[in-house]
Amino acid sequence: MAPITKECDYLVIGGGSGGLASARRASGMYGAKAIAIESKRLGGTCVNVGCVPKKVTWNAASIRENFHDAKAYGFSFEETAPFDWPSFKRKRDAYVKRLNGIYEKNLNNDKVEYIHGRATFLSKQEVEVKLDDGSTTQIKAKKILIAVGGHPDIPSDIPGSELGLTSDGFFDIEKQPKRVALIGAGYIAVEFAGMFHALGTETHLFIRHDTFLRTFDPMIQEKVTAEYERQGIHLHKQSSQSKVEDAGDGKKKLYYKDSEGESSMEFDEIIWAVGRSPEIEDLGLDKVGDIEQNEKGHLVVDKYQNTNIENIYALGDVCNQGFELTPVAIAAGRRLADRLFGNKNDAHLEYENIPSVVFAHPEVGSIGLTEPDAREKYGDSVKVYNTSFTAMYYAMMEPEDKGPTAYKLVCEGPNERVVGLHIMGIGSSEMLQGFGVAIKMGATKADFDKCVAIHPTSAEELVTLK
Ligand SMILES: Cc1cc2nc3c(=O)[nH]c(=O)nc-3n(C[C@H](O)[C@H](O)[C@H](O)COP(=O)(O)OP(=O)(O)OC[C@H]3O[C@@H](n4cnc5c(N)ncnc54)[C@H](O)[C@@H]3O)c2cc1C
Repeated sequence: MAPITKECDYLVIGGGSGGLASARRASGMYGAKAIAIESKRLGGTCVNVGCVPKKVTWNAASIRENFHDAKAYGFSFEETAPFDWPSFKRKRDAYVKRLNGIYEKNLNNDKVEYIHGRATFLSKQEVEVKLDDGSTTQIKAKKILIAVGGHPDIPSDIPGSELGLTSDGFFDIEKQPKRVALIGAGYIAVEFAGMFHALGTETHLFIRHDTFLRTFDPMIQEKVTAEYERQGIHLHKQSSQSKVEDAGDGKKKLYYKDSEGESSMEFDEIIWAVGRSPEIEDLGLDKVGDIEQNEKGHLVVDKYQNTNIENIYALGDVCNQGFELTPVAIAAGRRLADRLFGNKNDAHLEYENIPSVVFAHPEVGSIGLTEPDAREKYGDSVKVYNTSFTAMYYAMMEPEDKGPTAYKLVCEGPNERVVGLHIMGIGSSEMLQGFGVAIKMGATKADFDKCVAIHPTSAEELVTLK
């Protein structure tokens, strides 16, 4: 084995949001000697193939929807050319590249040493990094953080499945597909389907059951599924796929079964969004000892991000903590650095009441317990407030162009503490953050009612629920 070439206090494997936030805090705020290793591009999934390019694309899709809506408000114009996907993609790529550069600058500012390469454990304290030129470097660290995130899955039991893309490949598509198949019922499939449809692609969404977003409150599942159907997205319910074939000319033929029987169809692109797995395959975890993992391979950690191996920590999507979200990884990373290097012995992230949003069309927001989960936990002491209405945005539109808005507040106990909030409709993503603060502070229904409404908004309906 080659001799150790570097030593440090804190070695972070993975240059995604969580790992970098932790390394920067450890070094920039507490003066620890920190090294961060990234094998692809700085910023990880979120910046390169997740939140950031997704939201930029969602913005484009929303603008296209606004064009349509504008006519109802008296504007008259025609789109003289189709959406310019190639130049949009070029600009989006350039934006992401700029962010990669900002991430690198921030590491320099906080004096984190950055190594571009792929890391593998040699032992509990030692890691080997394969560098871009094929050489290796060995690093010994007092503490090691595993923040390697995850990767999208492609089903291994469907012949030809490799002809389809994953969410990573979505961001490489150079030309707008005329017809696309999204397979999956989670937020990634639902977001992509909404964006494609709004941008004018014929969109088919294949789901295994009758609704999608199945971890969300039933109100969200039912109403957003119905809204996608109303908009004209082709929903294939109770579906399964048996084969994908190359249909020539860049097209792929999908063989499937759905509630209407067996069929096949040609698509310009097929995108699997059927789940993600932790990126641990070549990490050499066997060299660390008997590190605890769950059945899907996620690393098992406690609330302090400790694995069962001393001085080895993990956070973000590689873990079993149930929230695969960028701000969760960042917050966990910062608190971990506070604890390890800032003498804040109890610093840890509270994993309750974390707000999350789905950039569907319309947007969805959710905090805390679904109604069924609340009933299971609190029984008869649960009280639920619901409303659904047409937002004033649609005032000038024909009935067939009006989208739904629906809100639900789940309360518990004699004080009606708010334990769940579920919203869908225009503006939900921006609306949720403030309500997140209130719920984190333990707000009750009476506190919501005491807040004077802002009129005329959709959000006011949440403080006037009967
Ligand atoms: C399509 C999509 C949309 C999303 N949208 C949102 C959203 O809107 N909001 C939100 O909050 N979250 C969103 N997410 C989730 C979010 O991107 C992740 O939760 C977040 O990126 C997790 O951060 P992380 O630090 O755990 O890992 P990652 O960001 O995945 O970073 C891990 C990094 O480690 C590197 N790595 C892996 N193995 C090694 C190794 N052996 N050596 C060196 N480097 C290695 C990888 O290359 C990667 O860059 C989205 C995800 C996807 C896929």
